[in-house]
Order: sequence, then C-alpha cells, then structure tokens
Amino acid sequence: PYAGPPTSEILRKRTQFLNPTMVHLYKNPLNVVAGKMQYLFDETGRRYLDAFGGIATVGCGHCHPEVIDAIIDQTKKLQHSTVLYLNHAIADFAEALASKMPGDLKVVFFTNSGTEANELAMLMARLYTGCQDIISLRNGYHGNAPTTMAATAHSNWKFNVVQTGMHHAVSPDPYRGVFGSDGEQYAKDVQGIIDYGTSGQVAGFISEAIQGVGGVVELAPGYLPAVYNIIKKAGGLCIADEVQAGFARTGSHFWGFEAHGVVPDMVTMAKGIGNGIPLGAVVTTPEIAQVLARRIYNNTFGGNPVCTAGGHAVLKVLEKEKLQENAFIVGSYLKDRLEALQEKHDIIGDVRGRGLMIGVELVTDHKLKTPAKAETLHIMEEMREMGVLVGKGGFYGNVFRILPPLCFTKDDADFLVDTMDFAMSQL
Ligand code: PMP
Repeated sequence: PYAGPPTSEILRKRTQFLNPTMVHLYKNPLNVVAGKMQYLFDETGRRYLDAFGGIATVGCGHCHPEVIDAIIDQTKKLQHSTVLYLNHAIADFAEALASKMPGDLKVVFFTNSGTEANELAMLMARLYTGCQDIISLRNGYHGNAPTTMAATAHSNWKFNVVQTGMHHAVSPDPYRGVFGSDGEQYAKDVQGIIDYGTSGQVAGFISEAIQGVGGVVELAPGYLPAVYNIIKKAGGLCIADEVQAGFARTGSHFWGFEAHGVVPDMVTMAKGIGNGIPLGAVVTTPEIAQVLARRIYNNTFGGNPVCTAGGHAVLKVLEKEKLQENAFIVGSYLKDRLEALQEKHDIIGDVRGRGLMIGVELVTDHKLKTPAKAETLHIMEEMREMGVLVGKGGFYGNVFRILPPLCFTKDDADFLVDTMDFAMSQL
C-alpha cells in the first residue's frame, strides 16, 4: 500500500516550487508511485498499461530486476566522477556499445542527457570541419541548450535568444510534405540551403530517423542517403540523433538510421540507453574524436560507474530477452490493428512508424488534414480512464505517440487498440 502524501499535496508543491512550464498530460494529473515492466501504478494501486514510457525506459520495462541489481551492486561498490581514475564499468560499457555500431564508429563519449550528447556532437562537427553552418530538419527536436535549441525546429520549443549558424530544411514528411514519399525531392532543399545560405561548405547535418516529438514522422525513403551525399560533398559530417529511435525500438534494426542504409559520422543517444537513469552518449570515429584532444574535454558524471553499469545491463537484457525481435513482432501486429482501426474511424488520418514507435495522427478532414487537437486530448483522457496511457505530440498536438517499453505483448496491443476504438466510437 502507498503511504505517501496525497496527490493534491504533490500537485500543490509542484505548482509552487517547480518549473511552471512542466506539462501535465491529463486534466487530473496522474500520480505514479510504482512501475513494473509495461505497467505503472497510481497512489490507489490502480494499474495502467504504459504505452508511452518507452521515451524514457527502453524495452527492459520499468524497474527491470537485472538492471536494478546492476545499479545497486555498483552503487554499493563505488559511485564517483568519470574523469579522475580508471574504472571498469565505463570501459566495459563503451566496448559493448561500440560493438553495436557499424563501420568505424568506435569511440564513445558519455553524457548525462540527450541535449548534452547533441551539443557535443555538433561541437565536434564544427571543430572537425572548421565550419559553423549546420542543417537540421523542420519539426525535429534535439534538446534545449543553445546549439540544440537552435537545431530544434519547432517554435513550441524555441525561446527568443540568439541561435546562430543553423538552417532548417524541409521535413521529408510522407503524410504532410509536398513531395509525399519521394525522399530525393526533399533532399534538394538541403542542396539549396548550402548553395544559397552558406559559403558552400558546412559543418554538418543532424536529424532523427523518426521524428519523435514531431509526431512520429518517419523520414521519406531515399532522403537520408541523398542528403548524406550532399553533406559529404560540402565537407560536413552527418549526425544521427537516436535518442528516441535507437536501442532496438524500431524492431527491424537496432538503430533507426540503419533502415535508411546510411552510416553516420556520429550517433547520439540517451533515454533508452539507461532504462530511465540519466545517461547519454555520442559515438564517433577515432579521427573525429581526436578534435577534442586539442583542449581538455570532460564531463564529471557523464558515464559514471553507476549509470554505465546500468546501461550495460540494459544491453544484456535487450539481447537476452530478444526485445528487438519482440518490437518487430508486436509492433507489426499493433500497426496492422491500428491500420484496421483507420478503416473504421474517419478521424484517423495516418498510422505510421516502425516497430514500437508508432504514430496515429487525427484529423477532422482527410483532404485538408485539419488537426483534430481537441479530439486527440479527449480520447487520451478517455483511454486513461480505461487504464491505458499514450503520449501526444506533433506540431499541432494531434498525434498519438505510442512508444511502450519493448516488453509490450500482443495482448497489450489488443487492449490499447480496443480502448482507442471504444473512445473513438463515443466521440
Ligand atoms: N533528441 C531527441 C530526438 C529527443 O527526443 C530528445 C528529448 N525529447 C532529446 C534529443 C533531448 O534529450 P534530453 O531531454 O535527455 O536532453
């Protein structure tokens, strides 16, 4: 039984003492007191199926015992800064992570968050190339520090401060974009930005393979190979932001970029890497990594023993429990069921995504694609009442983001779709 303070008390403290822009997903904010695998529990002991926790915890699920044990064991032995002495936890995890990477991507820099990882990757791109200009995609999200906020191309997340050296290319969005699924057409915009907006040379390009915050937008096929070629010709480096799509989530591949047949110069990651603990990383080549040797670069807690012991345990669990395969099987099943639901309910404009990273976009008019924002909120509330938690995103806030822990089952998928179906039928 839960013995903590009542929800009203927590809400009062949050309102009085915490960041006023923190969002509540629900009208009556949910107070979660415990988690187990794909479930969350509120203060009354009510269980919820968590179909959004995957943005913070990878497939292992909430409080996976093997990850917890690894964290506790290491906490009992030593928790310290990363930079002063040798410790095996960070070295072992770096080796294991590098083994999951293609090509020459073998050097790991650990950070505490995705923002830090992307800041570092873009810093290295600028140092390596001697150029300032970076191209990112409209509708992308990369973080909230100066360079990452500049790269984030979503006015909801941008503050009015100086953001230099950043250009935003048209997002190759197969549903809303003007060129549909023709990736190569969208890529021409990147060439145009280089030709008309820069000296002809750039530091690099950063993008997600599937835009998460932007509403689970899978980049049009053919886009990334064409853009990577254009960027290489302009002397730049390509950065894959795998903060949401990485770590087996897409099912077909371990990393999101792999589905596009490209090999980036740098890969950034966070969230799922640690199943909920603060950890991020940049993985790059020895040659690019060398640029930081010009000065001293370190991060007091990035890759500390406790977090890296946890991260290493996550990798082992992903493999042992075949969670990539599960993401593929259950994700395909869930997507099929949602596509069938689209036939039934006119409000569903698009079902998209890969593996257990799925978006359902709601519109009031199929031709005009008018965002059904109020309906999205209403259905989300109704699903919560029925015990299912989904996320929401997209520029207009009209896309359900379904990113469950990767241990999600077909029964869970059925329950999710049935509640969505019921809520839509009641509209
Ligand atoms: N990149 C992507 C794709 C993200 O979704 C996020 C977080 N929403 C970030 C970077 C930033 O990560 P963090 O919040 O850990 O700084």
